[in-house]
Amino acid sequence: TATHKEMGQSSKPIQDFGVNQSEEPSCSSSGRGAPSNSGNNHLIDDDQSLLLGNNSSPIAPEIPINGGSNGNINNLEPIFHLRSRTAAASTPNYESLDYEVCENTLFQEEERKRLTERFSLRKDVIRWIIFIQIGIITALIACTIDIIIEELSERKYTFLFNAVQKNVPLSDSSTGDLVIPYLYWLLFSILPVAFGAAMVTYIEPITAGSGIPQVKSYLNGVKIPRIVRIKTLAVKAIGVITSVVGGLAGGKEGPMIHAGAVVAAGISQGKSTTFVKDFRVFKAFRDDHEKRDFVLGGGAAGVSAAFGAPIGGMLFSLEEAASFWNQNLIWRTLVASIISVFTLNIVLSAYHGLNDFTFTGLFNLGKFDTPLKFDYFELPIFMILGVTGGLLGAAWNSLNTKINKFRKRFIPWKIGKVIEAVVVAMLGVTLACLMIYFINDCRPLGNDPTNNPVQLFCEDNEYNAVAALWFQTPEATVRSLFHDPPGSHKILTLALFTVVYYVLSCATFGLNVSLGVFIPTALVGAAWGRLLAMLTFYMFPQAEFLHPGKYALIGAAANLGGVLRMTISLSVILMETTGVESSFFFPLIIALITAKWVGDYFNEGIYDTQIQVNHVPMLTWEPLPQYKGLKAHDILSSPVVCIKLRDSAHYIYKMLKKCDHNGFPVVDNVHGDRRSEGRVCGIILRSQLIVILLKSLYVENKRFWLPETSIQTFRDVYPRYPSIKSVRKLDDKVNYTVDLSMFMNPSPVRVNPHDSVPRIFQIFRALGLRHLLVINNENRIAGIITRRDFIYK
Ligand code: ATP
Repeated sequence: TATHKEMGQSSKPIQDFGVNQSEEPSCSSSGRGAPSNSGNNHLIDDDQSLLLGNNSSPIAPEIPINGGSNGNINNLEPIFHLRSRTAAASTPNYESLDYEVCENTLFQEEERKRLTERFSLRKDVIRWIIFIQIGIITALIACTIDIIIEELSERKYTFLFNAVQKNVPLSDSSTGDLVIPYLYWLLFSILPVAFGAAMVTYIEPITAGSGIPQVKSYLNGVKIPRIVRIKTLAVKAIGVITSVVGGLAGGKEGPMIHAGAVVAAGISQGKSTTFVKDFRVFKAFRDDHEKRDFVLGGGAAGVSAAFGAPIGGMLFSLEEAASFWNQNLIWRTLVASIISVFTLNIVLSAYHGLNDFTFTGLFNLGKFDTPLKFDYFELPIFMILGVTGGLLGAAWNSLNTKINKFRKRFIPWKIGKVIEAVVVAMLGVTLACLMIYFINDCRPLGNDPTNNPVQLFCEDNEYNAVAALWFQTPEATVRSLFHDPPGSHKILTLALFTVVYYVLSCATFGLNVSLGVFIPTALVGAAWGRLLAMLTFYMFPQAEFLHPGKYALIGAAANLGGVLRMTISLSVILMETTGVESSFFFPLIIALITAKWVGDYFNEGIYDTQIQVNHVPMLTWEPLPQYKGLKAHDILSSPVVCIKLRDSAHYIYKMLKKCDHNGFPVVDNVHGDRRSEGRVCGIILRSQLIVILLKSLYVENKRFWLPETSIQTFRDVYPRYPSIKSVRKLDDKVNYTVDLSMFMNPSPVRVNPHDSVPRIFQIFRALGLRHLLVINNENRIAGIITRRDFIYK
């Protein structure tokens, strides 16, 4: 749908343009908001804008004058009684992407010209080259983020370590003072977090959060404004560095998907709209369909680089983000992921001074040196861990949603959002200090993998195990929990750490900062997994199979399954990042699947919950059960705003000013001006019509523009199509005509009013359509269906 402002202009008196009354277009149903007759919406009753960043107010929705479904209102109400009328009215305005290739005459001409095998081969080779470039550049960005985070965190925690050693030098706490290190710690958290939150809030709110729900929505066909811009990438990168260095409970993995997606969208288009620079390459890939595939590859390369896990990265993109895929795309995505990890390996090996390209740090969660083994009697225990993960994950999702609704309602100001992020950072530091201060957990020095073993209140040759958990990045703590030898922590330490981190991560996800949820979720799971192993071992000391690292890994898997609800990719990522034997895939997948099933019983995964809460019109994989028994005529909109095959430029101009729909059936055989009763011969998009008017592609001056007009004329303005406001008034062209035959898509998908909704949903979903025309037996238009009609009617 076009912008709201644009809509506002439609109230101008039409006589301005000297058009006779019969020519006046009537826009029967406005495109924004849920149709008034249905009054339904996603099951969540409050409007949110988490997905768009908390302060990116989506354009206020408008109730259509008549979103009608052939008057069959009463049939619909009972089916959707769960959805509230208020929520329908507050649905933000999300446009769709055009994943359907418009095979118009111009397109076919181009295809004909290049109908050689050489051209197809060349296009294919270029496509591969782009995927390889995406892998390399995404990895370079990941390396940069990684190295900066590592260096800054190292400096921060070394400084704090020294501050603690200086101020609390002896085991007797009365002679030491933790206040000074606490203040330093606060400072080192507040400064980066405030900076990152301010950047996200004031410069690019879309960068808030992990970015995965946004990328997922985009790949489903929903246009999320500003999601793949260079500015977004810059803010995201700085945002994630500052948040992780600031010590917030989050990780860089989710944001890396988003970063990869931006890189892919940028490279594949061969131009930057931000820098107004067209490199005049890759022109054939300038459409939503092609771009979507590259974005998927970019996302996969991003996760692969973040974890050092190529297959896991590819699977993560397919399982979590993609809505469409095919064999070739899987291949290309895998290649982008492998190239990304390879580049990462080279750069990090060089950075760490190795010359054999085998940087072991690619096992981000630390390599298990001895193969992890399990006995078959442990399988029920893994299932119990899975059930625990599912319950804790579902509770986490629900609590997080409530917290986010609360903050949306009570913290609407920008400065408030920055302060809130700072307060959560301070809370984390304070809780950590309190734990360090009150829990006496001293362990002998020597076999702890932490870089900064703080003595703090412990005897000489001992380190403080609580401080060791907090004095590093969350990712390093996951590593410790997986690999620290048995007996590295007290039960009380891990129990409190689990509770504190559970609450902290819940309060953190949804702040206006760039952060992912993967690492804190894995951390909480690793903590309680290890804790359960310790507790069981405490009760049954002869149970030697209770390796704490193994149970930490299963706990992490179960918790991830409970929060994210993914299975295959998570188990592969965990295997790739810890180097466990392939035989251990079985326990991992058991824990993950059990957690997912248990969690699914209560609510959806965190990414889907965020998407729902924001009322993003996502199309599900399968038709909803509510569709059963419905026919196309139950959900279509009519009357439909149509355009004649040869129509007056003025009518088109005025209609675009008045209506905000994005697609219009093209009809012929029209009696008088009753366009909506014409015979369908194609469909044309709003963006195409605006280009036609802007470039004056009128029949009257065809000889001037015809020779140089091609599909490229339309691709050149992609993706930021001008609005109708940029078209001058057509006063001098009142009688000009537009012939749409070469511009329209002549083969739009059409269905019958009596076709069942589950069936047409599958067609709509599988082909990635934006508009579906409903026609009667005489090929005359009966109605139109868009994704909003499937979701809100
Ligand atoms: P999108 O927003 O998905 O990019 P769009 O703007 O063309 O596409 P929607 O905003 O989804 O369409 O449409 C809102 C409502 O208007 C839907 O109920 C849809 O069926 C209806 N609609 C869409 N196009 C037309 C049209 N040309 N004439 C009449 N109703 C339409």
